[in-house]
Parts: sequence; C-alpha cells; structure tokens
Amino acid sequence: MYRYSSLGLAAAVFFVSISGYAAKELNSFQAKTDRKYPEVIKYLETLESSFPGTCKRVVIGKSDSGVNIEGIRIGSGPVKAMIVAAHHGNEYGSTEVALAAATEFSARPMPNHTVFVIPVLNIGGYNSRNREEKSPAGSHDPNRDYPGPCGSDSEFALKSTRALAEFMDREGVVSSATLHTYYPAVVYPWGFATHDLTTEYQKEFEDLVRAGASESRYETGNSTNVIYPANGTFEDYAFWKSGVWSLLYELGFSHYPSVSQIEEMVRVNVPGLRAQMEIAPKTRASKHAFTGRCDDGLRLLDRRDE
Ligand SMILES: [Zn+2]
Repeated sequence: MYRYSSLGLAAAVFFVSISGYAAKELNSFQAKTDRKYPEVIKYLETLESSFPGTCKRVVIGKSDSGVNIEGIRIGSGPVKAMIVAAHHGNEYGSTEVALAAATEFSARPMPNHTVFVIPVLNIGGYNSRNREEKSPAGSHDPNRDYPGPCGSDSEFALKSTRALAEFMDREGVVSSATLHTYYPAVVYPWGFATHDLTTEYQKEFEDLVRAGASESRYETGNSTNVIYPANGTFEDYAFWKSGVWSLLYELGFSHYPSVSQIEEMVRVNVPGLRAQMEIAPKTRASKHAFTGRCDDGLRLLDRRDE
C-alpha cells in the first residue's frame, strides 16, 4: 500500500475497491519527490516481474538524449488506452500518479483493455526538473510541439513527441489521459487558440471528464475555458489527428508536491483514470476534424506554466 497517514473514509473505500492490491510487491511502491529516470525504469521492471503475463515493458522510441523512452503494457484486451506523464519534466507529481496507476491497473487489469502507461515522456527534463526538453536544435516545450489546426511553437522538433504520436497510431490507442501538474482540473478539447471550442462530441467529453474527476472533484470542462489556450498540445493533437478520446489532467495544487500531497493525488485520481477508460467509447471518434476559425490573438493568453 501507499504510506497513507491521514486519510479518512474515502481512502478506506478506495482500498476496498482495489483489494486485489494485496500483492506484497506493491508494498514497495512509495511516492517520491526525488525519483530519477533509472528508478522509474526499475519500478517498471518490478511490475513486470511481479505480474508476469499481465505486464510487459515496451519501448516507445528514443529520446534526443539517446535514452529509450519506456512504458509498460498492462493486460492484453482489444481496446487500447494510454496514460502518459511528464511531458513537462518539472512535473514529477504526474509521474508518481502514472506509476501508481500502473500499479493499480496491474493488480486489477481492466477486462477487454490493454492499458499503456508511459511515466516519463521528457526524460532529460525529468532528470533535471526542467519543463522543456533539449534537442540538438535547442530547448522545446514538448507540449507545444505537436501539429495542430491553428499552428504550434514547433512540430515534432523533439524525438519524444514524434515517438509518442507514432506509438499511439501503431498501437491503435482509443482513449488517452495526459498527466500534468497543476490546477486542479480534468479537461477536454479544444484547447488551442480559437473561440470555436465545441467538438462534435460535447456530451461524450462531458461524461468523460466527470468520470475522470469522480473522486477528485477537480474542476471539469473545456481546456481553454478552465485553464488557458495553448497551441501544439498532445491532448488536442490526439483527438484532432486521430479521434482519440483524449483528456488532460492537471493534478493537485503544486509543481512541488510533498510525499503526502502526492499520495492524495494518487488516491483521488487513479480511480478517475480507471473510470475514464471504462466509460470511453471503444472505437475512435470519426468526426474529429476542426471546422472552426483560429484566432491567433488568443495565443497571447498561453501562460506556459501548467
Ligand atoms: Zn505541464
């Protein structure tokens, strides 16, 4: 179990709901604030050896630093879901929640689903606690590095973002959650610089964010309305390009959560991630094109801090 000290009834309910959690190996999961990438990989190895037949490590691709971007595949069902954390290297709390989610999904695999968890996309940034990631051409914000209908800072200037996009398509991922800190909120597309924020699937996305925030009670809604407009993000790209049911989680209340704050982020968000994947449509959306108008003036509102 996680080392919870000050949790009440809600925590007890959570534990009851994941009683499969008893595997002794899981006692070794402990939220940390100073984890580095080698320890992340070590943890994935522990999961793989603790749940043989359920978990298998996967390589997404190579980062600009030359290090393999790794994740873990959990289960073998036909419906593919994906959780990715640490697009922003300083947001270590997102990685902890991803590792906890990987643990929980491993102990209780979702029927008919395969869940991929990629705990760190931006490895260089994660190890140095920097938001951006370095490439030979300079530093880039990975979550402004995806193509989009209204432009972006850059398009796949980083190997990591391209690798994630290609992995998503190669695997036929249907729903995704990208984890960041902090707001707190769970939001849906569109999140780029436009006043035309509505997709063809308003109702579906409303249901998805409600599920995602079912325990956390985080604020929910459209990404731009709740947070701020940002061009070139993964969450928009995944839906716009491929019709992936894509949500953004802005976890917790700080970029520097303590161990106990991380434990709380885990407690309230892991059930939401499962709920999101459970109710998500089992095929990609077909009407995912953006048909509105871009408004470049709104790009000035991108605060680049979440
Ligand atoms: Zn972020």
